[in-house]
Amino acid sequence: MFFILTYFLGASIGSFFGLVETRLAHHQSIVLPRSHCDYCGHSLNVVDLIPTVSYLIFRRKCRYCRRHYDSWSFQVELFLGIAFLQLSLNFSWQVLLIDLVLSYCYLSDLREQKILTFLPVGLSLVLLPAQFSFVPEALFLVALVTIVSIVTQGMGAGDLILLFPLSLVLGIRSVSLLLLIACSLIILVYLIGSRPRRIPFVPYLAWAFIITKFFQLSKLEMLL
Ligand SMILES: [Zn+2]
Repeated sequence: MFFILTYFLGASIGSFFGLVETRLAHHQSIVLPRSHCDYCGHSLNVVDLIPTVSYLIFRRKCRYCRRHYDSWSFQVELFLGIAFLQLSLNFSWQVLLIDLVLSYCYLSDLREQKILTFLPVGLSLVLLPAQFSFVPEALFLVALVTIVSIVTQGMGAGDLILLFPLSLVLGIRSVSLLLLIACSLIILVYLIGSRPRRIPFVPYLAWAFIITKFFQLSKLEMLL
């Protein structure tokens, strides 16, 4: 029961972030009007608003107009649900802050192809006092990846800024693993068949962060 509640706590925060992102994009209040379908405007009931579950039960469609929902809110609900389960096994406020910032950047990168820069910058400032010893290697890694990105026209500026707080918490070894996992996931998705013209990198960074934390918690990282 504890794990179910923990999962839905994370997924509910993900759902709330989805609402905030949508409302702000449309210059609407985040309080009113009550949750509704963006296509037909029908108000949504409790059964329509169960994070991740409603999306799957109703087969990704609105119950009233049968239009398909985009998956971005579902993805972030699932991401934060799993992230909270992971936190319940080994809580760290630094990881909690990173999960929250990653999830909001995940949404905005998918929806608007940009992230709110003040989120990773603010996160870095909050993390700096506790993680100060990691600053030199974090700067080295971000500088290195920036040079590679300029040469290959790979990651965007927002992705590079996000890499700094990730490096502060994980250290250079684990961030290298994280980048390897993120790039592997992109290749995997590309091979499966989804080949968008622009690849939003933050979602891959976010899932790679979860997987990297799994490696750390299970001590499997030592084998790599
Ligand atoms: Zn509808």
